[in-house]
Amino acid sequence: MIVEARMSPDAGREVGQPVSTLFDTDPKAALKHHFGFDAFRPLQADIVDDVLAGRDVFALLPTGGGKSLCFQLPAVMRPGLTVVVSPLIALMKDQVDALTAAGIPATFLNSTLDANEARRRLRTLHEGGYRLLYLAPERLALPHVYRDLEAWNVTRFAIDEAHCISEWGHDFRPDYRRLAELRRAFPSVPVLALTATATTRVREDIVESLQLRDPRRYVASFNRPNLSYRVVEKQNALKQLLAFGRTRRKESGIIYAASRRQVETLAEKLREAGIAALPYHAGLDPSERSYNQERFVRDDVPVICATVAFGMGINKSNVRYVVHFDLPKNLESYYQETGRAGRDGLPAECVLFYGSNDTAKLLGFIEEKEADERERARDALRVMQHYAEGTECRRAMLLEYFGERLAPGDCTGCDNCFAPRARFDGTVAAQKFLSNVVRVRQASGFSVGLNHLVDVLTGRETEKVRGWNHDALTTYGIGKGTARPEWIAIGRELTRLGLLRQTPGLRSVVELTESGRKTLLERRTVELTAAAVVERDRTSGADDGGSGDGGPGDEELFDDLRALRKRIADQRDVPAYVIFPDTTLRAMARDVPASLAELRSIPGVGDKKLADYGEAFLSAIASRATRENAEENA
Ligand SMILES: [Zn+2]
Repeated sequence: MIVEARMSPDAGREVGQPVSTLFDTDPKAALKHHFGFDAFRPLQADIVDDVLAGRDVFALLPTGGGKSLCFQLPAVMRPGLTVVVSPLIALMKDQVDALTAAGIPATFLNSTLDANEARRRLRTLHEGGYRLLYLAPERLALPHVYRDLEAWNVTRFAIDEAHCISEWGHDFRPDYRRLAELRRAFPSVPVLALTATATTRVREDIVESLQLRDPRRYVASFNRPNLSYRVVEKQNALKQLLAFGRTRRKESGIIYAASRRQVETLAEKLREAGIAALPYHAGLDPSERSYNQERFVRDDVPVICATVAFGMGINKSNVRYVVHFDLPKNLESYYQETGRAGRDGLPAECVLFYGSNDTAKLLGFIEEKEADERERARDALRVMQHYAEGTECRRAMLLEYFGERLAPGDCTGCDNCFAPRARFDGTVAAQKFLSNVVRVRQASGFSVGLNHLVDVLTGRETEKVRGWNHDALTTYGIGKGTARPEWIAIGRELTRLGLLRQTPGLRSVVELTESGRKTLLERRTVELTAAAVVERDRTSGADDGGSGDGGPGDEELFDDLRALRKRIADQRDVPAYVIFPDTTLRAMARDVPASLAELRSIPGVGDKKLADYGEAFLSAIASRATRENAEENA
């Protein structure tokens, strides 16, 4: 973990605040009381301290790192109003629902409210009835807004998704430029800038645009230890996906595919296989789209098949897996999309389905782009391809992309570290492949693509083979004993090892490199990687929770608790995780609390929720115990 904090102890901490309760002075007590947690996540405690001290703060916390708590907790510990600027309108309602469920007065103003409701909220704001107000950035352009803010005793601005202010970022929103005005209009109100994604350049741009004053900077690690990463080689991709889904029927998952049609097909096939799944893409009519999303968020349907249009602004904490059925455009998107899994901190899987055609398909799209964009897109794809085909730690590859180093042995789950593919002496195979490249070139005077090379090796009779007389070559058919996909994989690995070079562009051809020529002439030893196992059983421990924290406990009790949570959530018309996250239910199922006091010790059970739902959950736990006793005695 990198912490870029300037260490001047407690500079500017407010003293002499009227002391009303422990919950206003002790962040840890307040954390348990309002949110039900005993401990802060990394960096949270320091950020909260700085925010309470009235400093400007820049915080880069990865998704799932508990960004919101950094302003929510100080907001309830200090008088006045915290204004949260966020571009994600869908998320505002969820956050306000969650705060309300925890007994914290909060509201939002955006274009979705009717005039009466907006007026009611404005009135309560004038009466000082809220601690947090969520605003969309375009709201700041309305007349009177500054006069209103002045009247509301604003004590803090929290700018969420702060990277949207930067034109260097991938999510630039012109509305965010307006935020620069805030500092001029409210010079004495401290600002907290938050983001989950930012390169060094974007970071500087945020600090400068918001005119942060000597801000403390926090940069958390991008590592998500509870996520595991793996690549599955596509053989019969649909069958593989169904096999994967069947063993995770009750679990919530997102399946990303490249096209709308693909999304529709996958959702349908999954449903036919008995796995409830809904589609989500930009081609659906907006009401159907938001209905499907709502059903997924509320756990009515476990799986959503989606294009990348899905996910921004979704705050569902119990997504157990993210599958990419097609290759993402670049590694940053892959990181963001897989980041939607396991936000509750429990184990979750990120699976990339990869076939050798995927790269060619994307290269085709890239050819249609403008010239200056093309080169960048190709580079990004090369990095992505390296991630998919590489044999080193996948987590390390992801972190490296964000300029972070993972110490050797620190990987908590990836296929290359935990199920490394066997290596074998591939000298003979390499000799066959390389000499085939040379023979084809000598005979024809031009180079050919990977597929044709493999056609010659395996002795296929294609039009091209006959047309170019490649069936007369001495290498024709010398690789018959090995299957086609394996030869393709060998060709790719030889490229990765630098013995072959693949030219860029749509009509990519394969050429021998200097190092390949030497390997061939000197009969150097070449070590190759065996083909990956297609779909293996899940490694024990990933789902049986036998190892330590957050284990599933009693599966039946967990199901009971989940059903109860769903009933309560539906009654209150909020998503289930607003009541309790999965981690909390898991802990209940494991510890089986029998009293309100025991229930309060469960992480995620704060005092308001204890009062509201405590009895209901205790009685569900008790009735499961009674039923089991009855079964045993029967
Ligand atoms: Zn690894």
